[in-house]
Amino acid sequence: SFLGVKFLGFEDKLAILRAVAAVGREYRRRQELDRMTMLEWLEEKRQPGRAIGRFWRPVLVSAVNEELDRMAARYGLQVIWLGFLASAQGYELGVPAVPLGELYRAEAWQRLERVRLRLRAAVDRVVFRGGRAAAVVSAGETASADFYILAVPFERLAGLAPELGMDFTGWEHSPITGIHLWYDRPVTELPHATLLDRTIQWFFNKAEGRHIQVVVSASRKLLDLKRSELVELARGELAEFLPSARSARLEQAHVIKEVRATFSALPGMEARRPPARTGFDNVLLAGDWTHSGWPPTMEGAVRSGYLAAEAVAAACGRPVRFFKPDPA
Ligand SMILES: Cc1cc2nc3c(=O)[nH]c(=O)nc-3n(C[C@H](O)[C@H](O)[C@H](O)COP(=O)(O)OP(=O)(O)OC[C@H]3O[C@@H](n4cnc5c(N)ncnc54)[C@H](O)[C@@H]3O)c2cc1C
Repeated sequence: SFLGVKFLGFEDKLAILRAVAAVGREYRRRQELDRMTMLEWLEEKRQPGRAIGRFWRPVLVSAVNEELDRMAARYGLQVIWLGFLASAQGYELGVPAVPLGELYRAEAWQRLERVRLRLRAAVDRVVFRGGRAAAVVSAGETASADFYILAVPFERLAGLAPELGMDFTGWEHSPITGIHLWYDRPVTELPHATLLDRTIQWFFNKAEGRHIQVVVSASRKLLDLKRSELVELARGELAEFLPSARSARLEQAHVIKEVRATFSALPGMEARRPPARTGFDNVLLAGDWTHSGWPPTMEGAVRSGYLAAEAVAAACGRPVRFFKPDPA
């Protein structure tokens, strides 16, 4: 199917195949991958502009939430390795049949014995005593436990637990912008699509072809645009691809700028990401920004949770393996 795609020329396809083969040779073997950008790597592999713009960029910028000239090559190669090379099933996508909120809903957790969720209870401070965490304070209430897993975004950690002495120098965020458009009539029958050579990267048909969600990852350049400018940009680009959108009336629009969507997967970050264990025996870290082995993604966050849970189980003298390593 790759050889048949019309948006790439023969030269582009050959170049991409050569570079994908190089991923197989270099991923996990070449030391500099965490110190160079993905764009530098692609230029080294002499990728034509169209191959970069229409293959590497759409695949990698969405997966890693960073531009090619800022993303560490390591993460880009990892995506290609896992998606195309590591196993014959790597291309398969699992699509949940229900929203995540339902899949992990609070009531389901509460059916498990000895699990209690306290929602909307932000922790203000972790209290340390005698070289260990002794409690967390939330809205004046104190709660104590044997172990504390801090799974907050990295920028929150210093305020909650300065005792950990974490240094986030050099860490940056990478934004994601979502634009929801509601038209007065269906403008597409496609469930979703990637727009090539445009600012919009993806659109998703949220309901009956009338409610369209547009997504732009690594959307740093859009942060200064006004809401109305973003809506016009999305409308204009959609209209180029969807003829029905030209005459349809826009009934409503909603813009969500997630300025701190993920940490920025810059060169050098892999070495900075901390492991689950901290200098305190009963305090563990989790989150997509910790050393999960994955770029900043939901899967990375899940993996970090497994690693933190393994560390707790081991500290209790009952080691368990939850983490499934990537295919070798
Ligand atoms: C718009 C958008 C689209 C995305 N799309 C994708 C995608 O398609 N695929 C993908 O894999 N990833 C995607 N991501 C990235 C993904 O959402 C993150 O990588 C993932 O959610 C990180 O999980 P986490 O548990 O580390 O952090 P979070 O999901 O940020 O969870 C941290 C939690 O800590 C809570 N918290 C903060 N402070 C406190 C406190 N003081 N006390 C208690 N709790 C606190 C927060 O409320 C939050 O619930 C997207 C992100 C955004 C913003």
